[in-house]
Amino acid sequence: MEHLRIQLHGVVQGVGFRPFVHRLVSEYGLTGTIRNTSSGVELELEGERATLEAFVRALPERAPLLALIEGIETVYRPELVGYQDFQILTSLREEKRNTLVSPDIGICPDCLRELLDPRDRRYRYPFINCTNCGPRFTIIRDLPYDRPLTSMGRFPMCPDCEREYHDITNRRYHAQPDCCPVCGPQVFYCGADGRRVPGDAIALAREAIRAGGIVAVKGLGGMHLACRADDPAIAARLRQRKERDEKPFALMCRDVEAARKLCAVSPAEEALLTSYHRPIVLLKKKEPGLWHLSENRSLGVMLPYTPLHVLLMGEGFDALIMTSANLSDTPILYRNEEALEKLRGIADGFLLHDRDIQTRCDDSLYMVLDGQDYPLRRSRGYVPYPLRVPGSRGGILACGAEQKASFCLSRGEFVFPSQHIGDLKNYETLSHYEQQIRHFERLFDRKPELLVCDLHPDYLSTAYARERAEAEGLPLVQVQHHHAHMAACMADNGLNGPCVGLVWDGTGYGSDGTIWGGECLIGDYRGFTRFASLRSIPLIGGDRAVKELERVAFALLREAGCDTAGIPDAAHWETMLAAGLNCPTSSGMGRLFDGVAAILGIKAVASYEGQGAVLLEAAADEGETGRWPLAFEEGAPLRWDWRPMIRTLVAERDADVPAAVLAARFLNTLLDLAVALCRRAAEASGLRDVVLSGGSFQNRYLMERLPGLLRDAGFCPHVHSRVSCNDEGISLGQLMIAEARRARERV
Ligand code: ZN
Ligand code: ZN
Ligand code: FE
Repeated sequence: MEHLRIQLHGVVQGVGFRPFVHRLVSEYGLTGTIRNTSSGVELELEGERATLEAFVRALPERAPLLALIEGIETVYRPELVGYQDFQILTSLREEKRNTLVSPDIGICPDCLRELLDPRDRRYRYPFINCTNCGPRFTIIRDLPYDRPLTSMGRFPMCPDCEREYHDITNRRYHAQPDCCPVCGPQVFYCGADGRRVPGDAIALAREAIRAGGIVAVKGLGGMHLACRADDPAIAARLRQRKERDEKPFALMCRDVEAARKLCAVSPAEEALLTSYHRPIVLLKKKEPGLWHLSENRSLGVMLPYTPLHVLLMGEGFDALIMTSANLSDTPILYRNEEALEKLRGIADGFLLHDRDIQTRCDDSLYMVLDGQDYPLRRSRGYVPYPLRVPGSRGGILACGAEQKASFCLSRGEFVFPSQHIGDLKNYETLSHYEQQIRHFERLFDRKPELLVCDLHPDYLSTAYARERAEAEGLPLVQVQHHHAHMAACMADNGLNGPCVGLVWDGTGYGSDGTIWGGECLIGDYRGFTRFASLRSIPLIGGDRAVKELERVAFALLREAGCDTAGIPDAAHWETMLAAGLNCPTSSGMGRLFDGVAAILGIKAVASYEGQGAVLLEAAADEGETGRWPLAFEEGAPLRWDWRPMIRTLVAERDADVPAAVLAARFLNTLLDLAVALCRRAAEASGLRDVVLSGGSFQNRYLMERLPGLLRDAGFCPHVHSRVSCNDEGISLGQLMIAEARRARERV
């Protein structure tokens, strides 16, 4: 007999780990104890040496689905305790916390079966969960992950639940949020006036929705507004009440079959839809239409991920509009009182419950490209799962960008990207951002010793980083926006060496103080050169041109020497341009999309960011193979001169070539441009690895074609799969660059 102490690090709490170990211990006939510590899980075991060794080998092989064992330390000790059985000890709080936190997990098949089984004691109970599913990140206040430190702390278990909780053979053995109708949270329904309505809350909500109402529904990480998806008048009412103009709505479909009625679903898309992450997946509409839901060719679809959603959808609806309940870009609402107050006049009813959401977390948004998951928004169901960055020393807080804010905190080799935060220009969003930074620092027990932010002097994330660096006497690194995009895609793909970065987005502050965004960089984490860009585009009226696409169209036409007669404000804009009055220049690819969309008559004034690009993609004729020749201005950086393209485009438009054909030719020209730039960059550098990042690569038309074209041309293209290509991914890149600079300066 020998005594073995085993320490496990990684995602080992809140994922059914202790029960799993308990069963394994019984199987191997060992005795001892297990306890959660703030740095993971600690086991004290006694048995024969060979058995103990076999047990240690079995641990990682048979660990639960969500567990991620990152380290196993074993120490044999000379003296025996003489355990009689195996016991789970109460958690100890420790100074040093290395534990990870599990993301929220969509309802599992076992719980789903019980939910719909009339003989089960949790039949139709909307908070059924087990060690394999249920709320995690959104209900955790602090570590260790034990019921009193979650929103479930105020619901003491009934004797039945208590029995399950302590029964090793039970699926709910040591499931912290375990509960039942007797002891757990309750769902209730309020009418438009916020008063509780007696009766079956879910049935009441369903009736209100069926009758055409808009009902606020409390989910895992915040409130949704739900209504029928099959009636354009209801969708229009929701848009009007929510002031959501034209942005696409997400749908919740009852199941994959229901999703298939509206959209094509590939096997990889089905796997992602039904995965425990349950993100919104952008699926291609079966046929054009459903414009009241989305003006794009795709629809954002998710499946029910909580038992409450299952019950709401289950017997009534194939698909519901399920849009985040927030007002004009403020963060998603997540508290009952707040929802009742702020959604007054918007919601006709409220399906709420008394389990508090501790941390708001929006739905994640993904696309599947070539069978690979492609994140656009990494949030609920993924956060706060870390990325591992071998060699990282930790202690860096990367503050991200501004409009799609996120941050990253590193602790040792783990980098923890935050959930989707939103646009910091909004006051509530900014305080949510600051609050989440503090929450992550407490949860992962790491105070930053180095801060990193964007180069943009006016980003609120820059202001945050500066103030904090000053207040706490911390060093601050500022990173150029597109370099950070490039580094994010490198880290996403585990690349360390130099490569070509094709970074196309709307706006980013350049090293020279001008606005960049159509960039081809060569470099690595340590630095970059700006190899190529676009010929600059004047933005008439600065930021106004970002919304008023017709201003960009005018500038493109004028620069290209095309006829601008008949444009209403031409004379005024001409004066501004001629005088250089409030006309900063931009090399943003997003601006070119905007301008072309306006020239083609697709959109003159955008109602949301990126709308020009979205509509061009939606308009493009997929079968069109035409393209326009490219022209360059030699120099450093090399500049793509888009003026000949604009002239051809205008000539073809005036010859009545349909907009769908022209939109496709424009996108095909960009594909040619991408390949041509990589060729030139490779000639200059000898590099074949190409990373694709920046918000313009959210475009499905480009992304379905570009990696293949690059491979055909002999390149090794790398796309995002773990963080978003848009500004949400920036914080990861910032962190990598700061880590590289710190390493270099110490050398
Ligand atoms: Zn379950
Ligand atoms: Zn109970
Ligand atoms: Fe960007």
